[in-house]
Amino acid sequence: MASSWGSFLQDEQQLEELARQAVDRALAEGVLLRTTQEPSSSNVVSYAPFTLFPSLVPSALLEQAYAVQMDFNLLVDAVSQNAAFLEQTLSSTIKRDTFTARLFDIYKQVLKEGIAQTVFLGLNRSDYMFQRNADGSPALKQIEINTISASFGGLASRTPAVHRALVLLIAQEKERNVFDQRAIENELLARNIRVIRRRFEDVSEKGSLDQDRKLFLDGQEIAVVYFRDGYMPSQYNQQNWEARLLLERSCSVKCPDIATQLAGTKKVQQELSRVGVLEVLLPDQPEVVARLRATFAGLYSLDLGEEGDQAIAEALAAPNRFVLKPQREGGGNNLYGEEMVQTLERLKDSEERASYILMEKIEPEPFGNCLLRPGCPVRVVQCISELGIFGVYVRQGKTLVMNKHVGHLLRTKATEHADGGVVAGVAVLDNPYPV
Ligand code: ADP
Ligand code: MG
Repeated sequence: MASSWGSFLQDEQQLEELARQAVDRALAEGVLLRTTQEPSSSNVVSYAPFTLFPSLVPSALLEQAYAVQMDFNLLVDAVSQNAAFLEQTLSSTIKRDTFTARLFDIYKQVLKEGIAQTVFLGLNRSDYMFQRNADGSPALKQIEINTISASFGGLASRTPAVHRALVLLIAQEKERNVFDQRAIENELLARNIRVIRRRFEDVSEKGSLDQDRKLFLDGQEIAVVYFRDGYMPSQYNQQNWEARLLLERSCSVKCPDIATQLAGTKKVQQELSRVGVLEVLLPDQPEVVARLRATFAGLYSLDLGEEGDQAIAEALAAPNRFVLKPQREGGGNNLYGEEMVQTLERLKDSEERASYILMEKIEPEPFGNCLLRPGCPVRVVQCISELGIFGVYVRQGKTLVMNKHVGHLLRTKATEHADGGVVAGVAVLDNPYPV
C-alpha cells in the first residue's frame, strides 16, 4: 500500500511548511497531551504526536473491521457471561500470573455474592494490522481486543439506559492523556450527564455501599463507573485492590465489569482462536463465527504439554515470525527476536510459561509518512499502521439492548519499533485515507 503523497514526501521545504501548518492546526483543535513535566497537573501541554498525511487503508478492510465490530462485542459479552469458560481458560494463567489471579479473585468473590447489577456496559476497541495473503490480496488481522480503558476514542456512550446518570470516571493521578478523557466528559455533559473524576484512593477513603449495594461517593449515588485506570499491576496497591472490589460489588453499572476485563486478556484471545471454541460461545451464529475467525492471526498456548512444547520449538526455530505476550496491557510488554528467544529458553521447563501466549507476527507492508512529534525534525520514515475500531454495547440481564460500532482510531509508527502506543511515545495519531 504505497503512499499517494509521494510528490510531497520528496520536497523537504514543503514538508516543513506543511508540518508547521499541521502542528498549529492540531494545537488549535485541542489534539493535546500533557508533557512529562512535573507536577502531573501542570498546565504545560504540547500536541499529541500525529502523522503529517493520512495513511492509505484499503476501504474493503476498513468496512470489514467495522462490520465485524458488533460480532466482537457479542463475543466479549458471551465470554464475560461464561464462568466455566473463563475459569477453565484462565486456570493455568492465574497459577503463574499474580495480576490476572488478583482480578480473578474479585471475579469469584462477586460471583459468589451474586452480581448486584443487571446492566452491563461494554466499550471495546479491537485493533488490527493489514497483511497480504499469499495471493496478494490485503487481509485484516487482529492484534488484540481492549476491553478496559480503551483510549483515544474521545467518544461518549449514548446509552439510553444510563440517562441522567452520575458517572464516576476512575482516573490515574498522573494522566497525560487527560484531554482524550475530557472529550468524553464534555460529550456526556452535553447530554446532561454529570461526570466526576476520582482516583481509586478517593474511592477507598470516601466510597461506601448501602444495604442495597448502591455506591455512594461524597454523598452522591454513582450510576456508572468508567475505568481509565486499573488495567496494569503498577496501578494497584492494597488500598486500590480494595477499592476495585468495592466498586465491583456495588450495583453501579461498570465499564467494564471484572468479567469483561478478564474477557480481554491475551490468554482468552488465544483460546478463542482454538477450533470449535467460538461455535460453543456463540451457538447457532455461523456467520458471526466466520466473520470473527477471518480476522484471527495464529495464536498458540504455552501451557505445559506437547502443544506448548511444539509452539516453543517453532518460535525458537524462526524467532522473527512470532511475538511472545504476557498478560499485560498498555504497551511495551511484548517480547520479540533475541529477547523472546532468551525468555523462551528460560521458561521452557517452567510452569511460568503458561502466563504467556505466543502469537504469529503480523507483517504489514511499510509505506512512507512523516511522524510529527514536539521537538523532532520533520523527515520521511518507513511506517506501519494499526487500525482500532471502537464498539459499545449494553446488556440488561440477558437482553442485549444496544450493540454498535462507534468510530475508529488509526495509529502509525516507524517500522523500527516492534511494540508501543501513542502515550508510550512510539506510535502517533493518524487518519485512514480509504483507497
Ligand atoms: P498491549 O495490550 O500492550 O497494547 P498488544 O498486543 O496490542 O499489547 O501489542 C502492543 C503492540 O505490539 C501493538 O500495538 C503492535 O504494534 C505490536 N504487536 C502486537 N502483536 C503483534 C503481532 N502479532 N504482529 C505484529 N505486531 C504486533
Ligand atoms: Mg494494544
